[in-house]
Order: sequence, then C-alpha cells, then structure tokens
Amino acid sequence: MKPIIVLKIGTSTLTGGTNNISRGKIEDISMQILDLKKDYNVILVSSGAIAVAKQFVTLKAPERPLGLKSALSAIGQPKLMQIYMEIFADHGLQVAQCLLTHFDLQGEESRENTKKTITVLLNNDYIPIINENDTVAVEEIILGDNDKLSAMVAVLMNAKKLVIASDIDGIFTGNPNINPDAKLIENVKSIEEVKTYIQDTESNLGSGGMESKINALEICQGKNIKVIIVNGSIQFFLRKAIKNEIPHTRFIG
Ligand code: GLU
Repeated sequence: MKPIIVLKIGTSTLTGGTNNISRGKIEDISMQILDLKKDYNVILVSSGAIAVAKQFVTLKAPERPLGLKSALSAIGQPKLMQIYMEIFADHGLQVAQCLLTHFDLQGEESRENTKKTITVLLNNDYIPIINENDTVAVEEIILGDNDKLSAMVAVLMNAKKLVIASDIDGIFTGNPNINPDAKLIENVKSIEEVKTYIQDTESNLGSGGMESKINALEICQGKNIKVIIVNGSIQFFLRKAIKNEIPHTRFIG
C-alpha cells in the first residue's frame, strides 16, 4: 500500500475569504490530488458545509447559535459533497463521505471500524472526504475547523504526511496581519516554544486559528508524521510546499 497523505482544507481556503465556495479552488485541489495519487493514498478532510449552506439558506435563529450552525452543516454537507463529486469526477476521481467526531476516534471499537472503512475505500481507489459530524459534535465548529480532527485521522491511519491548508503561510511568531515584524516559523523544533507565540488569528468563516494548528502538531508528535502548514490560496500549494518552493511551516512529529 502506498503511504498515506492527509490533506486538510478549511473553510477559508475553500471560500478564498469570500462568502462563496470557490469551484476553482476545488478544481485546483482535484488536480493536485490527481498528481499526488501517483505516490500516495490521499485522504481529504474538508470543512465548508456551513459555508455552502449559508450561500442559499437562512434559518430561523434558535436559542443556541451552535444548533444553528449544526443545522446549517446538515444542509450544506450533501451540497458540499455534490460539488466535490462533480468536480473530482471530471478528473476521474471517485469520492466517499465519512462523517466523524473526536469521540469516534477515541473509542477502541469505533477507531477500528473507522480504520477498516477508510482502508477499504483507499484500496478501492476512493478518496475519503472526512468532515466532523456536526449533528452530534461541535468541537470543530467551536475551535478547530477540522485541524484537530485531521491530525487524529493522520495518527489513526499511520499517515506519512499531514498537510494543513491555512489562509496564511504557516505559523508565525505573531499575527502577521497586525504585526509586520512577525516572522514565519519554517521549522518547528519545539512546540512549547511555538506556544509562546500564539495569536488569535481566527478568520470570519473558519474557526481554525493558530491554537488548533498547534494542537494538531501535538497530536502528531512522536507519531512519525511530517506536518506541513501551508497557504492554501496559492495555486498548486501542495506540490510547491512538498518541493519546498513556497514558504510554509514544517514539523516532524
Ligand atoms: N464542520 C464544519 C463545516 O464543515 C466546520 C467549519 C468551521 O468551523 O468553519 O462547516
């Protein structure tokens, strides 16, 4: 079996900072996956369900805003998969949906079941597209935008690489949008040191700031997974980061 690469795409990468999912970005991702498939088995962890729903529906405001987001996610998820299915099919890529929670990736039996399912999908040339099951869990809506979930999946599947597409070039020593002196940390040697730099860089549509990225590094630590955090808005960001052609943050877990 080829080594596994887990690719995490957050809402802000899919929307390019707008209010709409960019079919062009999904096109870019599908071409990159096609290229990667020569050397890897690819697992995609994608957010975007809430953002897709927001494009065409307004729900009555409930007492708990999280319930509203979960409901939007339930409406948007099939639509998101439809977009993936259509665009990936143009490139001969077959997709499957797996909705998971942190809880599922902690219990022994559910871990085994998840691993078996994903393995069968990969062996049959299907690309598993994973999102949090927002009906029953809200961890990634509150904090994470699937950063943590993607790291847990990478560990479960013994992945060789985890690529987290972000809306900035990687982890910085400060918030580069506010502090012009903030520098990109190209090689994370000590997670503890990086923690001292944490800034809240929460974006409008995604909930994954630097804290959840650092959580992801912690989950991969000691698991022999190479983690790459890269700016997903750059065309062919994956290939370019793997070949070291664009600035990004790396961590050998
Ligand atoms: N599972 C959520 C979604 O797909 C997470 C999104 C987020 O936090 O932006 O929309």
